[in-house]
Amino acid sequence: MEGKGRILTGHRPTGPRHLGHLVGTLENWARLQDDHECFFLIADLHVLTTDYTHPQRIRSSIAEVLMDWLAAGLDPERSTFVLQSAVREHAELALLFSMLITVSRLERNPAYKEQVRELGLTASLGLLSYPVLQVADILVYKADTVPVGEDQLPHVEITREIARRFNSLYGQTFPEPKSLLSHVPRLPGIDGRTMHTSYSNTIPLFASPAEIERAVMSMITDPARIHPTEPGHPEVCTIFAYHQAFNREMTPQIEEDCRRGEMGCVQCKCNLAKLLREQLEPFRRIRQELAACPSYLWDILEEGTARARPIAQTTMEEVREKMGLSK
Ligand code: SF4
Repeated sequence: MEGKGRILTGHRPTGPRHLGHLVGTLENWARLQDDHECFFLIADLHVLTTDYTHPQRIRSSIAEVLMDWLAAGLDPERSTFVLQSAVREHAELALLFSMLITVSRLERNPAYKEQVRELGLTASLGLLSYPVLQVADILVYKADTVPVGEDQLPHVEITREIARRFNSLYGQTFPEPKSLLSHVPRLPGIDGRTMHTSYSNTIPLFASPAEIERAVMSMITDPARIHPTEPGHPEVCTIFAYHQAFNREMTPQIEEDCRRGEMGCVQCKCNLAKLLREQLEPFRRIRQELAACPSYLWDILEEGTARARPIAQTTMEEVREKMGLSK
């Protein structure tokens, strides 16, 4: 794509995508396809950093992610879908980059600390060096742009540091990618915490009407509000956060009615459930059609990976030569 940046971004295949992925990420990626060359990575090696005891789950999760990507508008005709483990150069470049960063630098990574502390994950070498593999994912295609949320900014900073270090030691080779910050507020989980599959507080993109209903009815609202006629505080309410994401036009009215005590929480939840049922119906329909033809999904991934592989191989040839390694 002439004059447009190259983007590398992706997901770990950990199962179906949820509404947090749609609002925070997938809608943005679908738009970026209009004016960028996009590489969307299925990062299956990354799953092993946290789930190495169940590798058999990864394959079915890859299909789940692909179906959700396609349903959300990612287009394999315009973008390149890549399976990380099928391009060996990701792992090789990560190994070489691991020489260029210190352990203490990686230990300062907030995501690493959070995963070990909050999720109780084993502090393995693989988990610690996760950002280095991410750097390799980006730079093996010499991507110059990385779409991120606020919490991922430190990863792009590590990418820039390693690119700078490599370039200063071995000559100009890699771009220093810039962050394309998404300003969409993060959607909370149905329990009000950060939405995360590990917390079991998500709503899947393809949720059935009954699942949507159940999830919305269980959401946390303003805990200080007992009666529907009491003034509410939408800023602390999970339901309101969802209205902001999926019902933007009506948000000012909902906020006013809530603050004046003119809208009950049950009614507010029912309105949201109806809206989500309507808005998610197209995803469910497309996904059902895709689920009926799994070979199509794997064909897309194989074709994209075959397009990406020579780019990664060219980068590695250059890296090996500059580092004086065997070709
Ligand atoms: S009325 Fe709606 S926005 Fe206000 S607290 Fe209840 S659920 Fe939340």
